[in-house]
Amino acid sequence: ATGKRTLTMVTSWPRGFAVLDDAASYLEKFTSEMSDGNLTIDKKAPGELVGALEVFDAVSSGQADMYHSADYYYIGQHPAYAYFTAVPFGGTAHEVIDWYEHGGGQQLHDELGEIFNLKGLLSGNSGSQSGGWFRNEINSAADFNGLKFRMPGLGGKVLGKLGASVQNIPGGELFQALNDGTIDATEWVGPYNDLAFGLHKAAKYCYYPGWHEPGSVLECMVNKQAFDELPEDLQAIVEAACRVTSQNMVAEFTARNDRALQTLRNEHGADIRPLPVEVLEAIKGVADTVASEVGQTNAMAGRIFESYSTYRDGVDQW
Ligand code: CA
Repeated sequence: ATGKRTLTMVTSWPRGFAVLDDAASYLEKFTSEMSDGNLTIDKKAPGELVGALEVFDAVSSGQADMYHSADYYYIGQHPAYAYFTAVPFGGTAHEVIDWYEHGGGQQLHDELGEIFNLKGLLSGNSGSQSGGWFRNEINSAADFNGLKFRMPGLGGKVLGKLGASVQNIPGGELFQALNDGTIDATEWVGPYNDLAFGLHKAAKYCYYPGWHEPGSVLECMVNKQAFDELPEDLQAIVEAACRVTSQNMVAEFTARNDRALQTLRNEHGADIRPLPVEVLEAIKGVADTVASEVGQTNAMAGRIFESYSTYRDGVDQW
């Protein structure tokens, strides 16, 4: 590469937001180090250039060069983006990465990105999330009827079909809403982030597994022209930096969640228990319908659903 370049990256994460903003910072750091300073990333937190969920449109239009965020926030732009972050009872982190790299996921993501002038790259994964914090016990699927539950994405649609009153409340307001009973239950991320928010002080029961987000993907999307204008070595560096960021993030989440789970159990006496098998079976029956309904919204979504579910059925047997 000749000459120094800077790409402006907008993110959905407030500065210092544990693990998520850290991942965006890794991407910034690795890119600069690997290119010996020839390519730097100028990271902008929400509000510094655009709002947290305005990053997709900002990069699509060229207002910013790239973003770090999660695809499922942009199902309004295209419903098929739901498949690229988290599918209820879908792939784990490992399986989703395999689908992208060896099962046709990346090509389909690129094809979808063409519509919006975006080149997408996997750039993070939360690993399996927690099932959520509940003020009351869950003993049957009927207990979801009327339950005021915060859950975004396809998982929320699933609980809605089971009769829950599904809300989408920003992370920063969760503790208060759960503590004062505005909601009866919430999912957030996993032990590390949940402990940081003090959710164990607002609700007694923590259920697992996180069936709604078995391995949520974070994505780095680059404006197509900005990416194409990079010389090949810098394109390769951006791709490699995203891959290392992905690996780092899932390892960091796993390690931090492991320690935080023990803190919740041993120091705070949190009641951490599995959802009854009958409840999981009831949720799964509805979840499969919800995932296939998204595939019926248009031809592109149908092809992505077909690819995802075919890959997942095969890898599941292995
Ligand atoms: Ca979550």
